[in-house]
Amino acid sequence: MQNTISKKRFIKLTLFILILLSLLFAFICSASATETPDTNIKDLAITPNYRYLRDGNYNTSANTQTITVSSENNIDSIYLVFWTEATGYTVTSNGVSLKIENTFLHSYTKLTEDFVDCKELTITLDKAVNVSDVYAFTEGTLPDWVHVWQQPHEKADILLNSTHADDEQLFFAGVLPYHVAKGYRVQIVYFTDHRDTPGRRHELLNGLWTVGVDHYPVISRFPDAYSTSYQGALNNVVWAGYSETDVLEFQTEVIRRFKPQVIVGHDLNGEYGHGQHMLNIETLIKAVENASNKDFFSKSAEKYGTWDTPKLYVHLYGENQITMNWDEPLEYFGGKSAFQMSQAGYKKHDSQQYTWFTDWLNGYNGSITQASQIKTYSPCLYGLYRTTVGEDVEKNSFFENLISYDEQERIEQERLEQERLEKEEQKRREEEESRRLEEESRRIESESIAESIRIAESEKAESERLKRQEELDKKNSAMTKTIAAIVLVSAVILLSVILIKKYRK
Ligand SMILES: [Zn+2]
Repeated sequence: MQNTISKKRFIKLTLFILILLSLLFAFICSASATETPDTNIKDLAITPNYRYLRDGNYNTSANTQTITVSSENNIDSIYLVFWTEATGYTVTSNGVSLKIENTFLHSYTKLTEDFVDCKELTITLDKAVNVSDVYAFTEGTLPDWVHVWQQPHEKADILLNSTHADDEQLFFAGVLPYHVAKGYRVQIVYFTDHRDTPGRRHELLNGLWTVGVDHYPVISRFPDAYSTSYQGALNNVVWAGYSETDVLEFQTEVIRRFKPQVIVGHDLNGEYGHGQHMLNIETLIKAVENASNKDFFSKSAEKYGTWDTPKLYVHLYGENQITMNWDEPLEYFGGKSAFQMSQAGYKKHDSQQYTWFTDWLNGYNGSITQASQIKTYSPCLYGLYRTTVGEDVEKNSFFENLISYDEQERIEQERLEQERLEKEEQKRREEEESRRLEEESRRIESESIAESIRIAESEKAESERLKRQEELDKKNSAMTKTIAAIVLVSAVILLSVILIKKYRK
C-alpha cells in the first residue's frame, strides 16, 4: 500500500517537473526569437595587434597604414574609427578590392557581393594615420552604435549653426531631433573645431547619431577659446591665424552651399555670455544679409550661387518670438520627445558631463524631463530675426510659410507627371483626330468611287437604252416602208385590175 502511494507521488512529481521544464524551454525559445542576433564579430584578429584598435575607446589609437582583419565568421562589413584625421582606404581580399573615398571620422563600409565567404581582408589606408578602433560585422542588423554617415545635404531645409560640440544638444535642445522626426533635411555646421580636444569630435558625432542626424556635419577651422565678448572671441581667432573676413567668408559659404530655408543661430548675448557664441551669431547675421549679393565673397557665389535665406531664427531674440514645443512625444523616436532625445545626445558628450550644463539640461538628479521646465536660456524660445516670407502668425513651426525641399520636389514631380499625362492625352486626342480624318477621307473617297461607278453604270444603261431604241426605230421604219410598199403595190395592182376590166368592156 505504502509502495503504491509513493509510486503515484513519484509519477505526479515527474509530470510536474516535465511540465515546468517544457514551459521554461518555451519561454527561452520565445525570448531568443525576439532578440536581434549580435552581428559584431567578437573573435576578430587584427594585425598589427595594437590593443588600442580593439578596446572600443576612441580616445586611444595607433598609427598605421595597413590593417589585416581575420575571423572564423564571414565578414560582411567593416567599421573604422579614425582619431583626428579621416582618410580613404582600399579593402582587399582574395584578389578582390574595393576603394573607399572617405572623409568621415566614423567610416562604415559594406563589402560588395564580389567578396565571397570573406574571412580575411586587408585595409590599406591612403596614408598612415591614427586609427582608434576597427570593427567587423557578419550579415544582419547592425548594432545601433555603428554610424552609417551620408554626405552633407546638397540643400538643407534647416541649418543649425552651433558654436561648440554640445551647444546643439544644450541651448538648441530639441531642434535637431524634432526636425529629423518631421522629415526635414537637417544640416548642422559647427563654428568651432575642437582640434585641441579631438575626443569632442567623436562626442559630437555620437551625439548627432543619437538624435537621428545622419548627414555628416560641417566643421570650421576656427579654434575654441573662451572669451566674454565679440572682440575677445575675434582676438582668439586672429591669434590662431584667421581674420574676421575668414569668419565671414566661412559663414557665407555654408549658407550658399546648403541653401537653407531656415537658419537657426545663437542668442545675441551668447547665452551665458560666451564671446564665441556672439562672434558666431553676429557674423552669421551679416552673412545671411549679404549672401544674396554676388559681389560679397564672389568665389563662393560663383561656386554655389547666391542665396537669400527665407528665415533666420535667433535663440532668445526679443522680437517676433515663437515658443517651440519640444516636448511632444514623437513616434519616430518611439514616443520620446525631441527634448528627451537631445538629453540623450548630450550624454554622449562624456568630457562635458562635469560642467554646469549637465544640471541645466537635466536638473538635479534628473528632475528635468521637459524642455518647458527650463527657465533660463530656454531652448524653446526663439525670435524670427529676418524673413523674406512674412511674419509668423500661427507661431508653432519654424516652417510656417515655407515648403520643405522634399515637398517641393514632390509637388514638382506631380506637376511634371501631370504635364506628362496632359501631353499624352493631347497626343492621344491628336492621334484620334488624325485617325478620324483619315477614316473620313477614306469614306469620302470610297463614296466618290461608288458614285462614279453608279454614274458610269447609269450612263452605260442609258446608252444601251438609246441603242435599243434606235434599233427599234430602225426596225419600225423598215416595217412601215414595207407596209407602204405592199399597200402601194396592192393599190397599183388593184388599179391595174380595175383599168383592165374597164378597157375590156
Ligand atoms: Zn558653446
